[in-house]
Amino acid sequence: METGASPVRTVRKPVIVAIDGPSGTGKSSTSKAVASQLGLSYLDTGAQYRAMTWWMITNGVDVNDAGAVATAAGKPALVSGTDPANPTVTVDGADAAAPIRTQEVTSRVSAVSAVPEVRTVLTELQRSIAASAAEGIVVEGRDIGTTVLPDADLKIFLTASPEARAARRSGELKGKEAVDVSATQEALVKRDAADSTRKTSPLAKAGDAVEVDTTDLTLQQVIECVVTLVEEKRAAG
Ligand code: C5P
Repeated sequence: METGASPVRTVRKPVIVAIDGPSGTGKSSTSKAVASQLGLSYLDTGAQYRAMTWWMITNGVDVNDAGAVATAAGKPALVSGTDPANPTVTVDGADAAAPIRTQEVTSRVSAVSAVPEVRTVLTELQRSIAASAAEGIVVEGRDIGTTVLPDADLKIFLTASPEARAARRSGELKGKEAVDVSATQEALVKRDAADSTRKTSPLAKAGDAVEVDTTDLTLQQVIECVVTLVEEKRAAG
């Protein structure tokens, strides 16, 4: 029979971390590693916008017709798996991991993500996923700190020079398709411009976000920086 005081369990409040920034700043690699190191869930909201775009294309919706995209926005059933070691996204039960990374989806996703009805559907889904993460979650995207989770415990805004971003993105694509760094840079700048100037929740740094310029940092340094910021927040509150 056990005697004495029962063990004290420290119950920690789930921590919500928002990581925003343009493409090629290392958001995904950083967010996954931070979530893994801290035992948190991970959500790639860009993958959800890409999955929505893929569904529109495969279902014959003209992605340049905002009215048609708006009407269809509620139809696809999107499910995101939030294990940082194996993040997944399915649409109507089909694995969307590969098709959402094609050039066709990448070049059309900004048009789809600018449609307010699409943002309403996905913002609601993202909030419910974040609310159900028992230990907390790292959510990466463009409008997480400003719109999706304005009360996040920690908001990070990653930046990097266009040259560094294009070089990183080209490195990721290498082996998958022929890579032209200057064309990659042009496409990135164009997508960021579209994402930053749309009317509904554009890519923007929240007023209370910590900006980290990753141009001259290694991925490991960025990860350490963010992990330290999360630990400091947890210790403080
Ligand atoms: O992060 P990723 O490059 O995969 O995002 C693809 C696209 O999804 C972005 O260019 C943007 O148009 C859209 N997006 C968004 N809001 C988010 C995340 C992504 O509009 N929170």
